[in-house]
Amino acid sequence: MTCRDVSRFLREYFEDELVPAERQDIEAHIAECENCRTYLTQYQDTIKAAQLACEDANVADLPEDLVKAVIAAIAQERR
Ligand SMILES: [Zn+2]
Repeated sequence: MTCRDVSRFLREYFEDELVPAERQDIEAHIAECENCRTYLTQYQDTIKAAQLACEDANVADLPEDLVKAVIAAIAQERR
């Protein structure tokens, strides 16, 4: 599991679509990787902000494009 893998699976992680083994791999990586912890926090903040913006939306209802744009923006910030 690399940082790249984590960012790729993050959406599924939050939507609870991962099989337990994948989830464990991600959690194990995050526990050891400060970069990914920061990334996760930013992602959660972004999701929360988006949910506040459109009240009863949940992550699964957010437009795919929006989520991708957010992930791309965060990835750029990390460089
Ligand atoms: Zn990482």
